[in-house]
Amino acid sequence: MQFDILTIFPTFFTQNPYFTYSILGEAIKNKHLELKIHNIRDYSKDKHKKVDDTPYGGGAGMIMTCQPIFDTIKAVKKEQAKNLGKAGPVIFLSPQGQTWTQPKAERFAQKYQGIILLCGRYEGIDQRIRDHLVDQEISIGNYVLTGGELPAMTIIDSITRLLPGVLGNADSPEEDSFSKKLNRKKEYPHYTKPAIFQGLQVPQVLQNGNHAAIKKWRENHLK
Ligand code: SAM
Repeated sequence: MQFDILTIFPTFFTQNPYFTYSILGEAIKNKHLELKIHNIRDYSKDKHKKVDDTPYGGGAGMIMTCQPIFDTIKAVKKEQAKNLGKAGPVIFLSPQGQTWTQPKAERFAQKYQGIILLCGRYEGIDQRIRDHLVDQEISIGNYVLTGGELPAMTIIDSITRLLPGVLGNADSPEEDSFSKKLNRKKEYPHYTKPAIFQGLQVPQVLQNGNHAAIKKWRENHLK
């Protein structure tokens, strides 16, 4: 899976240990995941490399301008199409978008080989970008962050762990909360050794090796 990330803060990705260690780091090493980071500012034709301006109609804050984003998206789509045969969707991270869910992560993991993630900053981006270049807007929840970079990382993480070969069998995502196998419910409680810790006991049924009883207990404890 190739993610092309469009941001004015490329080092949030290139200098982030989150993409060097553990599951995402391994996914990159094993070529399940490829991150290509594009600095929107590099595409600005302004002599000071400006990427924002004041809003028409007045009001607080700055708006990201059309030119650098139009040019970045055009270049990135061309490059993705060359690499993968077809460019993937342009996703704008926005609190106004559709809320990201596990079924959406599953669909994206199956459907696409490439995804383009556009990270907004300031008050947001010029509406003409949303109207003419963005295929889908995705929100990670009903709250407002300072930029689209953390939402982009959330999307990358949740999709990557579903790609075949990324998680070992022991960590299989098939029985996680919101999975089809659990009827989209929240997972049952987990316990590990010791069986008694500071007087707190692990339920007896989980210790007796009766698989049918354990299955039933777990089903009854889905939320
Ligand atoms: N003025 C915008 C509004 O009220 O909808 C919020 C702008 S926010 C300060 C700056 C950028 O952060 C947004 O353009 C978006 O890219 C990103 N962002 C903030 N909250 C987000 C969320 N919940 N989900 C996805 N992206 C978000």
